[in-house]
Amino acid sequence: MKKLSDNFGKEVNKLLSVTNNIVIVTHSNPDADAIGSSLGLYNFLIKKRQNPIVITPNSYPEFLWWMPGNQNIINFYNDKKSAVEIIKQAQIIFYVDFNETNRIDKLEKYIKQSNSIKIVIDHHPLFNENIDYILSDASASSAAELVYEFIVLLNNINLIDEKIAKCLYAGIMADTGCFSYNSSKPRTFQIVAELLIFNINKDEIVSKIYDNFSTDRFRLLGYCLNEKLTVFPQYHTAIISLTKQELKKFNFKQGDDEGFVNYPLSIKGIIFSAIFVERVDYVKISFRSKGAFATNKFARKNFNGGGHLNASGGKSKMDIDKTIEKFISLLPNYKNELDENED
Ligand code: 5GP
Ligand code: MN
Repeated sequence: MKKLSDNFGKEVNKLLSVTNNIVIVTHSNPDADAIGSSLGLYNFLIKKRQNPIVITPNSYPEFLWWMPGNQNIINFYNDKKSAVEIIKQAQIIFYVDFNETNRIDKLEKYIKQSNSIKIVIDHHPLFNENIDYILSDASASSAAELVYEFIVLLNNINLIDEKIAKCLYAGIMADTGCFSYNSSKPRTFQIVAELLIFNINKDEIVSKIYDNFSTDRFRLLGYCLNEKLTVFPQYHTAIISLTKQELKKFNFKQGDDEGFVNYPLSIKGIIFSAIFVERVDYVKISFRSKGAFATNKFARKNFNGGGHLNASGGKSKMDIDKTIEKFISLLPNYKNELDENED
């Protein structure tokens, strides 16, 4: 675990004791870990008698709205004026589940203008930015796991309650695909065991996040698997793509494609999967892999993106057909790596 100061806990506690205006920011298109870790931290800071505010750069799917504190989140996209004013007043800004300000889109400008103290709690590979305190571990399952470690470092385990436990559990569970990846370290399960002490209903949390498809979303998934999947067995790769027209046909709502990119990895011999989704002025790409194939390097080098070894993303300004063409043309360069890492 990297932290800038050996006295991290003491220093941050001291800082919090003299600060009122605390803002917690998530990355754009927040997922269950972004919302779970941010709201876990939010509920913790409230227990510490602070008055934090969570700001998301844009909206997020309804299946995350159940988390305690969600009703107080400010969505910058919908409420720009309030968000900007709050950021101006901020004395501390937490970056949770990201560490590069290009992950927060239009919010970046305002966050960069702020001369507040910045604290990062994140599990993505770390990039140099102007950060005062960093709690970063790229081998941690999730940002939610690191929020738990943050609470430990502040010597405040006694403040954890059911609300905090629910949010952190949701983040850890979702970022490990229900404990199927990124979760081989005993520490993750130790933390989960500590959270379960608070009588949270873990089965209900899984159900709220995963058994909550709208009919449109469910049909869109079927359409992707049946009609939009292309398999390249020689490269152990499979892709899915969705155009704007297709999204419209299925009444697409933000987050409806969440997790679709994982499905092709269930095909025997496939270790690399990508989904291309047309957005208003760019193509959003998600990459997933099994084993050692580094999707984050692939994303950074070829699609202006990044992320984790097995889960990353990027963007393309070319049209969707050209973007896919580019992707396919790159595969031969990676043939050896893809062959090596075949199951
Ligand atoms: P997703 O495919 O679910 O959008 O993102 C998977 C992972 O890749 C996330 O952990 C996210 O942080 C990272 N990621 C997604 N898109 C981008 C991007 O455009 N740039 C960078 N640096 N990381 C991304
Ligand atoms: Mn995460």
